Amino acid sequence: MDNFDLSILKWYRQNKRNLPWRNTNNPYFIWLSEIILQQTRVDQGMDYYLKFINNFPTIQHLANADEQTILSNWQGLGYYSRARNLHATAKEITFNHNGNFPNKYEEILKLKGIGPYTAAAISSFSFNLVHPVVDGNVFRVLTRIFDIDTPIDTSEGIKLIYNIANKLIPTNEPGEYNQAIMEFGAIHCTPSQPNCNNCIFSNQCKAKINGTILHRPIKSKKTVVKKRYFHYLDISNKVDTILHKRTDEDIWKHLFEFPLIEKNQNDDLQLIKNQLEKKFNQQILSIPTAQKHVLSHQHIFTYFWQIKLNNSVLETLNETDSFIVVHKDEIIKYPLPRVITKYLENINKIDN
Ligand code: SF4
Repeated sequence: MDNFDLSILKWYRQNKRNLPWRNTNNPYFIWLSEIILQQTRVDQGMDYYLKFINNFPTIQHLANADEQTILSNWQGLGYYSRARNLHATAKEITFNHNGNFPNKYEEILKLKGIGPYTAAAISSFSFNLVHPVVDGNVFRVLTRIFDIDTPIDTSEGIKLIYNIANKLIPTNEPGEYNQAIMEFGAIHCTPSQPNCNNCIFSNQCKAKINGTILHRPIKSKKTVVKKRYFHYLDISNKVDTILHKRTDEDIWKHLFEFPLIEKNQNDDLQLIKNQLEKKFNQQILSIPTAQKHVLSHQHIFTYFWQIKLNNSVLETLNETDSFIVVHKDEIIKYPLPRVITKYLENINKIDN
């Protein structure tokens, strides 16, 4: 397509949102913003970005922070492995690259937690290198404009889009062009309500001409969603409660939670209540209702069982090694999954 880059750059300069990570070419800031934006929408991501650059103004600050502090700053974003990778990469750059972010695409790609998309974003936005970014927005824009029906979750589809993206990217302003095509997908050629009637490509867009817009892009596989049932034991006396650190290769690794009983199926709650009452020799006043927490490949149903004790809370558990006694007021100082903070917010509302 002729002058695709010039058209989209012109559109971008007239329509772009003013976002803080666009006013810098500091690779550390750009890297932070890209990792955060893989997790959340721009409006929520902005708060996290500002918090991170305020609390960790340089990559050395991030490298020297302890993991728990970083996880606490990341709390609420999910995919905590990304926060741990941020930390590992900050250390790698600080201690093995003299604190200088690598300035070559291949070197950036070697860093932990950085894939082809993020490497292209950092190398083009910070160093003006000619590498096209291909994220969900770009897949959508290109499959529509060229009406591509090859599934984008196949190696053939990915190769095809990368070939097109490589041909379209200009050599003089690759960073701004990359920003432009992503922004066009984010605010104009959106998934369900693209603004086709007022589009710079309305006469050239093949999906518009062929009436296939809402069928582009195509994916071949359906995401398999696993259901998990988490029964949390909120065991407390007047002052203390118990937390446990997740250490397995699973969601929320290194975050803290209440003692957990995980079930694979939706068991009879009355039966669980009876078992817990017997184990703790306590009457449980109410059966909790499930809260659903949606992750990309998992639906987690959480139940919080309140077990109020008079004696020391730890005496109630056999394997004390992996549990810690925490003063109730101190819980929020620990990095916690969103399901736990939500529960705490709710019970505080009820208690207040
Ligand atoms: S015409 Fe519609 S589908 Fe095509 S690029 Fe424009 S907004 Fe997207």
